[in-house]
Amino acid sequence: MTRIFTALLAGIALAGTALAQDRADSETSVTIIHAGHLIAVPGERMRNGTSIIVRDGRIDSIEDGYVTRDGAEIVDLSSHWVLPGLIDAHVHLLSERGPDSRIQPFTLSSADRAFIGVRHARRTLEAGFTTVQDVGGDLEAILALRNAIRNGDAVGPRMRVAGPSITPTGGHGDINGFNQRVIENFSSPGACNGPSDCARAVRSLIQAGVDTIKITATGGVLSNTAAGLEVQFMDDELRAIVQAAEMMGRRVTAHAHGVTGVNAFLAAGGHSIEHGTFLDNESIRLFRSSGAFLVPTVMAGEFVTLEAEANAAWMTPFQRAKALQVGPQMVDMLRRAHRGGVQIAFGTDSGVSRHGDNAREFELMVEAGMTPEQAIIAATINGARHLQMESEIGRIAPGFHADIIAVDGNPLENISQLRDVDFVMGAGVIHKAP
Ligand SMILES: [Zn+2]
Repeated sequence: MTRIFTALLAGIALAGTALAQDRADSETSVTIIHAGHLIAVPGERMRNGTSIIVRDGRIDSIEDGYVTRDGAEIVDLSSHWVLPGLIDAHVHLLSERGPDSRIQPFTLSSADRAFIGVRHARRTLEAGFTTVQDVGGDLEAILALRNAIRNGDAVGPRMRVAGPSITPTGGHGDINGFNQRVIENFSSPGACNGPSDCARAVRSLIQAGVDTIKITATGGVLSNTAAGLEVQFMDDELRAIVQAAEMMGRRVTAHAHGVTGVNAFLAAGGHSIEHGTFLDNESIRLFRSSGAFLVPTVMAGEFVTLEAEANAAWMTPFQRAKALQVGPQMVDMLRRAHRGGVQIAFGTDSGVSRHGDNAREFELMVEAGMTPEQAIIAATINGARHLQMESEIGRIAPGFHADIIAVDGNPLENISQLRDVDFVMGAGVIHKAP
């Protein structure tokens, strides 16, 4: 008995030593990237022929010329354009639109969802997106996925998550188009009615561990209901949601197509708008006076338009009608907002479109009149500010996370270069190399 106990103890001690050794190795790891063309801070001047010193997952320094250090791993990107890892502020990693979408709420468990999320997370990271904000999905699954990536149990981008959307009962974020017995059992945990109930819904999600709050301020394209695209919350509900979130240190972002929802939410103190399809001059004024961000998700508009025009089998008649109403407006919406001086953060609504195709959004942003540099700023500097992580991500600078990507052509001249990323480093770990 004693002997077994002693052997066990020795085993634990050995395992402990191995663990300590692992840690010591990773603590001293230095990687040096030889960057041919470095866009360290999008919007600032490009530098040629520099070395980025990465230590323990963070940027240590940037030096002129190609330097080496004893024991350091050297990455040769001397013929590449190197820039900060990209930030997508609007994804849904737990799903991807397809023929099974409508049945999946009844067939998949939270655990199933989390594993599906692992696959999408890896694809997103390999496309150059090193940080994402997930704005709507199964609560248990999305928290587990975020934590697994954070702890190194899964490979994916750094995540901020909202969990289920706060929605009025029967609103865009709730279940629609099924019989009453299904509705009773599958109504969204984010459904609420009246200011105090909506404050309760916000507080419950924060208690569960979400990083941010997402609401559906208006109807949406893919809910199976003819409830329109205008505002679905009362003004006092919107104010209660924003106030409850702010009191506990969270921001609120709103899915909004119709102008009544965009303007009511911004007037209630909301922090950002997703989509913004029918925004007007009053919306632009509200955006500018509050400093709220617009996350345009033009890609989602393009995707649902193409699917509706092709009569995709997965679309119901309600969805199809709304897709043709919303989709074609979105490039023009972004053009008006950008011209009007609204701050733009990059977001794609991936999960509606395919995960990993996120960089298509850059091309649509340029089509809407943004320069390639402005589009890149939206996915780095502005993305970081929107996520309140501007001292951690969004630029290659000492002390920041070593989130670094590279492409083999100049993205400031041809934005489509970003659709084919050759190198991805997330928090100092290389996930893709040329
Ligand atoms: Zn979305």
